[in-house]
Amino acid sequence: MNQSAAEAWTDCLEIIRDNVPAQTYLTWFETLKPISLVPDGDLVRLTLQAPSYFNYEWLDTHFSSLIVKTVARVLGPNGRLHYRIEVTRPDAPTAVAPATREPAPGTVDRAARKPATRSKADTGLHDSYTFDTFIEGDCNRLARNASVAISYRPGETPYNPLFLYGGVGLGKTHLLHAVGNEVFRKWGKRVCYASSEQFTNDFVRAIRENTANRFAERYSRVDLLIIDDVQFFGGKEKTQEEFFHIFNRLHTQKKQLLLAADRPPQAIKGLKERLLSRFRWGLIADLQTPELETRMAILNQKASVYGVEVPPDVIDFVAQHVRSNIRELEGALIRLLAQSTFSNEDISLNMAREYLGDLITSSQVTLTTDHIQKIVCHYLNVDQRLLSGRTRRREIVQARHLAMYFCREFTQHTTSKIGEAFGGRDHSTVIHAIKSINNQIETNANFKSVVKNVRQQIGHLRAPAS
Ligand code: ADP
Ligand code: MG
Repeated sequence: MNQSAAEAWTDCLEIIRDNVPAQTYLTWFETLKPISLVPDGDLVRLTLQAPSYFNYEWLDTHFSSLIVKTVARVLGPNGRLHYRIEVTRPDAPTAVAPATREPAPGTVDRAARKPATRSKADTGLHDSYTFDTFIEGDCNRLARNASVAISYRPGETPYNPLFLYGGVGLGKTHLLHAVGNEVFRKWGKRVCYASSEQFTNDFVRAIRENTANRFAERYSRVDLLIIDDVQFFGGKEKTQEEFFHIFNRLHTQKKQLLLAADRPPQAIKGLKERLLSRFRWGLIADLQTPELETRMAILNQKASVYGVEVPPDVIDFVAQHVRSNIRELEGALIRLLAQSTFSNEDISLNMAREYLGDLITSSQVTLTTDHIQKIVCHYLNVDQRLLSGRTRRREIVQARHLAMYFCREFTQHTTSKIGEAFGGRDHSTVIHAIKSINNQIETNANFKSVVKNVRQQIGHLRAPAS
């Protein structure tokens, strides 16, 4: 590789790193390889290699202005960027092709494509969770697109493992099954879906019955292993160890791993570093709470699945009021459906107002400082009592500041009242805490994403319980 290309790209990366969240940086920028830096008439052309067309397209759609500006800063106004797209597996000898608007040809072994003759029952998959029934929105675009990508080329994309995370009811399980169904249907491959609890129980039983080998064999003899709710692996060392070996075995054989959890891997309490580092090999993508338009689209889609007419004003009303997650949205719709069947009346706005009343009032539940402290402490793995104490340990101060910050955001309390809830502290301490958090949000992309995740969890609590 041309040395000056590497240097120029390192300079670009330094600028980019300061301007995007850490996860974005790792996923989309660190995976690019500098290839050459050569004059081209009046221009200087820096060529980078992207691991896939999907990767290139994502960068082009989301970061083209940042990239253009950065290249101009590093190479001067005549600097130009050019991508090539890797068309082979990431670890195979590199073959490159110029970026075009056409997707790069994949390396899927067509001979391996055969009709699904295996029994679906063994896979643990639900038929109804497919890509067709999954509505795409800003809240889930990356997770969905990456899921689609791996369902086309399981084990052949850089997204191995693909790790999805996000709060409850946001569509993680749906996406996992959609990938599994697609891979099973389209390629006739061996798929295994299990929750981490099921995996753990199977493992415990295998140990008890002295069939550990058979257990490992069963989970390693698949083309796609899907493990849901990975957060339950936290603290289960033996199970993690076993999973680690299965993971390695599958990954070495270019088999696809697909995982989901309610939080990013680094926030899972009691997860071993070596598993964490494996999870970072691929892509970590989050799902957020859906925005209004997506909520409306989902309601319309669910209504058509149930085969009922729901007037637009009712869709609008439900989407406006039920905001926390998609499971709640479905729940609201089902309740209206049931009511309409029992009373033999069409679904109407009045019916929605009358029968969804509790969902709507409870979505305005006021949060207490105690709720907020609990969520922050749980997320940062800190003992809640220490927030009111005098400890100046860094992680405690950080948790204290963050909890104060959210109390200001989510409650009506004055800064003095908030200070009282933290061991009788002064209002100026609270003001200082809020400033400090705001500063860190601006300067530290990693921290910013922590704040975003915690905010989402607090938002869930405010919403009705399922
Ligand atoms: P999670 O695993 O994140 O808790 P689920 O995948 O179980 O959430 O989703 C909860 C419900 O919402 C499911 O019935 C699922 O079909 C539905 N759902 C979630 N996201 C979408 C979406 N984008 N489009 C359509 N339905 C969705
Ligand atoms: Mg789930």
